[in-house]
Amino acid sequence: MTQHRRPPDQRSPLQYVKGIGPKRSAALESIGITTVDDLLYYFPRGYLDRSTIVPISSLKSFAAKREEVTVIGDVFRQEARRSKRSNRIIFFLTIRDNTGYVQCVWFEGIKWVREAFEVGEMLAVSAVPTLDKLGRPQFVHPEFDRLRGALEEDEPDWGKMFNTGAIIPKYSSSSDLGKVGLDSRGFRRILRTATQQHTNGLTDPLPKNIRAARQLPDLPNALKAIHFPADFAELKTARTRLKFDELFYWELMMAFRRKANTETKGISFIIESKLARTLVDSLPFGLTAAQRRVTREIAGDMRSTHPMNRLLQGDVGSGKTIVALMAMLVAVENGYQVAFMAPTEILAEQHVRTLKSFLAEMPVNLRLLIGGQRKKLREEILEDIRSGRANIVVGTHALIEENVQFARLGFVVIDEQHRFGVVQRAGLKEKGSSPDVLVMTATPIPRTLAMTVYGDLDVSTLDEMPANRRPIRTAIRMEDQKERVYSFVRQEVQQGRQAYIVFPLVEDSEKVDLKAATSEFERLRRDVLPDLSIGLLHGKMKSEEKEEVMRQFKAGKVHVMVATTVIEVGIDIPNASVMVIENAERFGLSQLHQLRGRVGRGADQSYCILIANYGWFDKGMKNNPMETQREKEHARLRLETMAETADGFKIAEVDLKLRGPGELLGTRQSGMPEFRIANIVEDAEILLLARDEAFALIGRDPELRMDDHAPLRDHFFELYRESWNLGAVG
Ligand code: ADP
Ligand code: MG
Repeated sequence: MTQHRRPPDQRSPLQYVKGIGPKRSAALESIGITTVDDLLYYFPRGYLDRSTIVPISSLKSFAAKREEVTVIGDVFRQEARRSKRSNRIIFFLTIRDNTGYVQCVWFEGIKWVREAFEVGEMLAVSAVPTLDKLGRPQFVHPEFDRLRGALEEDEPDWGKMFNTGAIIPKYSSSSDLGKVGLDSRGFRRILRTATQQHTNGLTDPLPKNIRAARQLPDLPNALKAIHFPADFAELKTARTRLKFDELFYWELMMAFRRKANTETKGISFIIESKLARTLVDSLPFGLTAAQRRVTREIAGDMRSTHPMNRLLQGDVGSGKTIVALMAMLVAVENGYQVAFMAPTEILAEQHVRTLKSFLAEMPVNLRLLIGGQRKKLREEILEDIRSGRANIVVGTHALIEENVQFARLGFVVIDEQHRFGVVQRAGLKEKGSSPDVLVMTATPIPRTLAMTVYGDLDVSTLDEMPANRRPIRTAIRMEDQKERVYSFVRQEVQQGRQAYIVFPLVEDSEKVDLKAATSEFERLRRDVLPDLSIGLLHGKMKSEEKEEVMRQFKAGKVHVMVATTVIEVGIDIPNASVMVIENAERFGLSQLHQLRGRVGRGADQSYCILIANYGWFDKGMKNNPMETQREKEHARLRLETMAETADGFKIAEVDLKLRGPGELLGTRQSGMPEFRIANIVEDAEILLLARDEAFALIGRDPELRMDDHAPLRDHFFELYRESWNLGAVG
């Protein structure tokens, strides 16, 4: 993974730092700290200062506000007890200040905490207080910091220093680190030495003029101040500088990729197209203004002599397919082949059906390539692709396989792009020679995230829904109201509509979940809705079976489709007007949004019913009530967000806040960098600055050849040596 650090001249081994011997250095190595600069970039997880300390007597009010606070006091009592209910050992630690007592509780890591404290020692303890059964405030799994130790002669007496307004860094530790004395206090000591002795010689790779223009401190000072700030203003500028660094180097990479793209010669298509015109004229509806705008943006790219590298984002149902199809037809009419890659077979098959219906009588040879096709058919398709007879080839990642050779691939469309890794995208692109690339995603991505992950792509957004849509009514129902939900489903079916009932698929026990969906399917068919025709769709079915049940659903022969999340993306059945999601508390927001997008595609009023079973969290594995509480709250917030808004961008923002960017995009290979201090949700402003500076710099000095930029150049190539080659392919 890309690491955003390592000034070039700080390779000194850890043992240069006073206080680090072989044992500590081995422990540090186990968490990835192998050099002095790694250590300098081991930033505090937080800070203690007078303003964050509250008296124990006030904890109740903070429990109500769910605010994290710190109390300072001494250890009054400690005790490990076996819980009668769970038969597990629970550790209790009572802290006292001059306003009262508070209990800290541990359910895990008992072995270590048991030995960690001494009665009478002074601690700073931080957490969001909760209330115990008797309504008394308590801290569950708090963070703690030892503030004084007679044996540590070079650790200042922080307890005293509070009163003078010092800001004290807190460091993450673990039981293994704790064993070699590297608890938060231990880190403080070695970092004190490291920052004093090892920052001054650092070269700052960030050019002076950028530092000056943005009023950023130099690197040695920023590194000192992030560990031991004199005051909050200094801390803030230090943090800004270090965040800027991460974002700047990342955006520099984007700027390079983009430049590489504009220097590549691509296909210049003639964009006047009879086929596209025929398509538009044949539509029973007019294009939305957004569709027209995006079509123009794409056409501009196609006409240009550089390869298109564009992201088309639009909420579910915003009409991306038509837009992409018009572009495909332009490519076909110019004598090129088109590859259209979808993440699943169901989707690929559906794209073929949709395209076929739009293409009707047009002279376009459309082929489907997926795994598991019969050998003879497959040979025939491959031959069509090789000879150029196939104009548009829709497929899954089967398209990237080696034996797939295009005669003249000129245009690549990738659907649901974040499901594919960089390597897969590149693989498809390489089947042609600098083809135009359009990636589509129905997961609306907040702007800052798009700029980070797709910073090298141009972005088009379909921000308008076709006018004929009625808003979907969304309701949350509890598990015990299910029977009423089923009667509603029956009622809708009697009115001629169709419904989905979706079950969650939780990754680590696919088999169990599948069983749940299958047995639920049996139950619905036998006991609950025996008068209706019920179909079953899940990922483990053969593709012919899926195809068959989809066909029956589409034809209206199946009234209710019981499914796992395989239907999440893209499936388009306009007559389906009810989406029931069972155990909705277990789904992620973007998944819920995608699922809801499966209805509301026709003219009828559509409904989405989220069945919640929050009790599920209590039964979960975790024995940590704080964690359970948090998960429950998030689940509630997800469902409430769904009930409140249909706007995919708003939903994505909430999702981003709840899950963080890495999770939101699904895979690790999605291209999201791992930042150590920058947070693209909170640091949007710094991101914009960093991006401006990075792009401007590449404008001034495209290859970083200027003398002033030598340290930057060294640093940058060191950082991105590995991602560089991949980078060129976006
Ligand atoms: P997306 O792929 O963005 O989720 P689709 O391209 O599948 O959306 O479009 C959803 C449905 O809306 C399709 O049935 C499509 O034919 C229809 N549609 C597309 N554009 C319009 C429009 N401008 N007006 C009315 N319906 C449209
Ligand atoms: Mg679609």
